[in-house]
Amino acid sequence: MNIHEFQAKYLLGERGVPVPRGYVTRSAVEARRAAERLGGSAWVVKAQVHAGGRGKAGGVQVVHDLDALERYAGGLLGRSLVTAQTDARGQPVGAVLVEEGLEIARELYLGLLVDRARERVVCIASAAGGMEIEEIAARDPQQLITVVIHPAAGLQPYQARQIAFALGLGGRQIGELTQLLTALYALFIAYDLSLVEINPLVVTADGRLLALDAKVTVDDNALGVGRQPQLTEMRDVTQEDAVEVEAAEHQLNYITLDGNIGCMVNGAGLAMATMDVIKLHGAEPANFLDVGGGTSAERVAEAFKIILSSPKVAGILVNIFGGIVRCDLIAEGIIRAVQEVEVKVPVVVRLEGTRSEEGKQLLAQSGLALTPASDLADAAARIVAAVAAPRDGVAG
Ligand code: GDP
Ligand code: MN
Repeated sequence: MNIHEFQAKYLLGERGVPVPRGYVTRSAVEARRAAERLGGSAWVVKAQVHAGGRGKAGGVQVVHDLDALERYAGGLLGRSLVTAQTDARGQPVGAVLVEEGLEIARELYLGLLVDRARERVVCIASAAGGMEIEEIAARDPQQLITVVIHPAAGLQPYQARQIAFALGLGGRQIGELTQLLTALYALFIAYDLSLVEINPLVVTADGRLLALDAKVTVDDNALGVGRQPQLTEMRDVTQEDAVEVEAAEHQLNYITLDGNIGCMVNGAGLAMATMDVIKLHGAEPANFLDVGGGTSAERVAEAFKIILSSPKVAGILVNIFGGIVRCDLIAEGIIRAVQEVEVKVPVVVRLEGTRSEEGKQLLAQSGLALTPASDLADAAARIVAAVAAPRDGVAG
C-alpha cells in the first residue's frame, strides 16, 4: 500500500528528517490561508495522488502570488491528474499540499528498498536526483551508488558517510546526512516498509538538506494484522483500483491486468499457469484472480461479478482444480452468479478433481450457455477462439 506525500512527510518529520514547512488542504480557499500562514513570497502547490511524475504533468507548481495559488489549487482539486505513472484515467486529486517555496541548489536521489535477490535492505543514492531514477539507472548506472545494509548491524555510520561522499556533500552536511539516513532506516524497519524514496533530496541555496518529496510503500502483509495501525489509518482507497478494493473485501486475491479474458481460478500457482496458457494461445488475461483454497459458492459468485464489472472482459475462463474445494460447490456458485448478473460473454469452464463429475452435471443441467472443457489447454483454446469469433457465434 502507498500513502500520500503529506503523510510520508509527517512520518519523516516525526523522526527528525527535515521537510519543508507546509499544510495539506482540501479547498482553494484553505490553500490560500495555508500560504498566508506560511508567509514568505513563494509557495509550492502539490497535487496529492498516489503517483509520481507530477512535476512533468502539471501537478506541482511554484507560485509567487496568492491569487495564482488559489486559482491553481482550485484547478487541481476535484480533477484527475494523469502522469507517466498513472493509467489514462489518472488519479483523483482530493487534497493539495501547500509548502514554503525553497531556493534549490542541488537535487539528489535517496531510496531505501528491499532487494529480494540480496535478501537485504539496500540504500540507493544518486547525485542526479529529480529526474526519473529508472531512466538514470538504465542510461547511466554509474551515477547510482548502492549500499547493502546488514539486518543485524543496521545502517552503519561509515556507510552513511560513503553515501554522503558519493553525493558530493561536505562539511556539516555529512553529519546531517548521517542523521537523516539513520532516521530513515529506523522508520523503514519500524513501519514494515518496502520502499522509502526521497526524490529529490535537496540542498538549498543556504546549504540545508531537506526531503522535498517523499514516497512510502508499506508491505501489505503488515496491514490488517494489527502491526501497523497508524499506517492502516492512512489508507486512501480513492487512490486504489476500485475493483481490487472490492475484491479484497471478499478475501479474493484480484489484480487488474490489460487483456480481455477474465480468469477465475483457485490457487495462485494455477492462476499463474492459466495466465501463461492464455498467452500461449495468443490472448491476454484481463485479471489475475485466486478465489482461494476453501472457497464457497458465495465467494465464487462475488468473483464472477467482480470479473464482469470490467467492461473490457470479452470472455471468461474458469479453471478449478478441486483439492480441498468441491467442484459441485463451485458449479453452484457459477450458476448463481450467471443467474444474478447478466452474462453476455462466453464462459468456458474446466472443472477437475473432487466431485468434478457432479459439478459438470450441475452445469450441464443448468441450461446456461457455458462451454465445458476437458483440460486446461482445451479450455484456453476454446475461450481464445470464442473471444476472437463474432458475438453471435459463441457460447455454444
Ligand atoms: P514528482 O514529479 O511527482 O516526483 O514531484 P516532486 O515533489 O518531486 O516535485 C517535482 C519538482 O518540482 C522537483 O524536482 C523540484 O524541481 C520542483 N519543486 C518542488 N518543490 C519545490 C520548491 O519548493 N522550490 C522549487 N524551486 N522547486 C520545487
Ligand atoms: Mn519526486
